[in-house]
Amino acid sequence: MKITQSEIVISAVKPEQYPEGGLPEFALAGRSNVGKSSFINKMINRKALARISSKPGKTQTLNFYLLNELLYFVDVPGYGYAKVSKTERAAWGKMIETYMTDRAPLKAVIMIVDLRHPPTRDDIMMYDFLKHFDIPCLIVATKADKIPKGKWQKHLSVTRKELGIEEGDELIMFSSETGLGKDNAWNFIQKKMKE
Ligand code: GDP
Repeated sequence: MKITQSEIVISAVKPEQYPEGGLPEFALAGRSNVGKSSFINKMINRKALARISSKPGKTQTLNFYLLNELLYFVDVPGYGYAKVSKTERAAWGKMIETYMTDRAPLKAVIMIVDLRHPPTRDDIMMYDFLKHFDIPCLIVATKADKIPKGKWQKHLSVTRKELGIEEGDELIMFSSETGLGKDNAWNFIQKKMKE
């Protein structure tokens, strides 16, 4: 899909603020600094609609981006930022759980991990959470350009194994630098929009 129109519609903290209309939504989740904003910007051909964060863990709102007046990307604040207080962490958890477990237009969660490193404990918790609530997901291993091609398969299999990715869940490689994986990610989204 080629995105020609993208705008932030609302930064929401509670359900009453979520947009109406029922357009399909895809939530983007990932630990702080993993490359989530870069993923969003690459997917929608924008340089900086999703802020490329200099301050990880700062945004504690769900940002709804309306794309081609057809679907939403919902940018979820990054998890696993050490300097966030317990209270903030709990508020984050509650907001995410409310949104992800009780939002009819949510078609899937796109979970971003770093291809270079094994998944963190927070990544594993996030994936387990999605599985527990039976939320459809796509795992995107980004920053592929930072490791040599010859090592891609090895890193992919570490990601698959350590996250415990279940059969039927897709894992794709991505690079916000080169655009690798962009078509695969859009194919997944378009498939889910038709379901
Ligand atoms: P966020 O906190 O998850 O939104 O992460 P950002 O999108 O702000 O990215 C964090 C840092 O990683 C920035 O310096 C980006 O330029 C860099 N980055 C993100 N994705 C990629 C990628 O695919 N390749 C490379 N080489 N750098 C990336």
